[in-house]
Amino acid sequence: MQKLDYLNILESPIQSFLISVEKVAHVQPNNTLEHALLILIKSGYTAIPVLDTDFKLHGLISKAQILDSILGLERIEPERLQTTTVSEVMTTSLARMKNDERFERALSYSINHPFICVENEYGEFLGIITRSKLLAHVNGYLHANKKTK
Ligand code: AMP
Repeated sequence: MQKLDYLNILESPIQSFLISVEKVAHVQPNNTLEHALLILIKSGYTAIPVLDTDFKLHGLISKAQILDSILGLERIEPERLQTTTVSEVMTTSLARMKNDERFERALSYSINHPFICVENEYGEFLGIITRSKLLAHVNGYLHANKKTK
C-alpha cells in the first residue's frame, strides 16, 4: 500500500488559509457589551477577536460570555450591557500563531479552537484561520491521494 506524504501537508504554509483582517468582524476593548452583542448577532458568529485601533489583538469575546455576564442572582440584568465594556468580559486565552508558521500547528490548535488568530512578527493582527478551512484542506488532500492509489 502506498503511504501518504504526510509531511507535505503538515508543512504547508498557513498564509493560504488566512481570512484577512478586513474581512474579520471584530470589536474594540472599550466598546460596550451591547455593541459587541449587536456585532455578534448581525455577523452570526459565536465569537470574534478584540482588536485595538492599532490592530493589536487583546482577546476574544463570545455570545456566551456576554450572556453569562448579565446573569443576576434572580433575573437577567440587560442594563449591564450598556455599562460593561468588552475588556471586562473577554477572554485572553486564545489560539494565536505567527504568519510564517506551518499547517501542523494550526491543525493541532483547531482541535480545541474554532479559529486561530494570526499575527506578523511585529504582533500586528493579520486575520484568522478557521477550523472549517483547515478541515476542507485535509479533506481535499485525502481525496486527491485516494485517487492516485
Ligand atoms: P467556521 O469554521 O467557518 O464555522 O468559523 C469558526 C468560527 O470562526 C466562527 O464561529 C467565528 O467565531 C469565527 N469566524 C469565522 N469567520 C469569521 C469572520 N469573518 N470574522 C470574525 N470571526 C469569524
